[in-house]
Amino acid sequence: MNNYDNRQEKTLVIVKPDGVQRSLIGEVIKRYEQCGLKLVALKMVIPSRELALKHYSVDPEWPLKTGTKSIEAYKAKGLIPPTEDPIEFAEKVRKNLLDFITSGPIVAMVWQGMNAIGIVRKITGSTEPLASNPGTIRGDYTIDSYSAADADSRAVRNIIHASSSVEEANKEIKLWFSEKEILNYRLVAEEILYDANLDGILE
Ligand code: GDP
Repeated sequence: MNNYDNRQEKTLVIVKPDGVQRSLIGEVIKRYEQCGLKLVALKMVIPSRELALKHYSVDPEWPLKTGTKSIEAYKAKGLIPPTEDPIEFAEKVRKNLLDFITSGPIVAMVWQGMNAIGIVRKITGSTEPLASNPGTIRGDYTIDSYSAADADSRAVRNIIHASSSVEEANKEIKLWFSEKEILNYRLVAEEILYDANLDGILE
């Protein structure tokens, strides 16, 4: 076993219905693939409401965190939030997310590599398209904002979901994939990405 084997992480990525409809599946895969991450599971599905609800209930703290953050963001911009109750706000966001993610085909994937969770989130860009940097997937391919999405009672169109912590990734991967759907294999490129021993490159 190489030293790097026990530093590997797995993370769940979903190309949401807007990414599929905009023909960005290949572009998204390319971005993660070309940085050195390894694709170990992939499926295209139309998620059931039940699965979607489980997915958006993985983090029990999410409603309070998201609701509080959203209300503060409205106030920071000098706007009046739709409600002062963080849980009520977050439940509206969650309902819109459920409607969105069950509206058509999505592509679920598991990516593996050293620091995979952080690397995927860096390449993906920040959650709100308005704030995501150019060079990231969301920065390059999305134009939406929370206030526009909230005004129309819909989910923000940000193309991708990506796990945000090891704990979340482990729970989410189990929701979307069985153990036998996640492949265990070696990429030749891993030798140059991680291996300390480069004997054999020169003839
Ligand atoms: P992610 O980890 O980047 O997907 O972001 P979160 O887990 O914080 O949020 C999940 C989803 O909820 C995001 O992809 C957005 O669609 C939505 N969301 C998060 N925060 C807000 C917000 O402040 N306002 C609105 N309208 N939607 C939000």
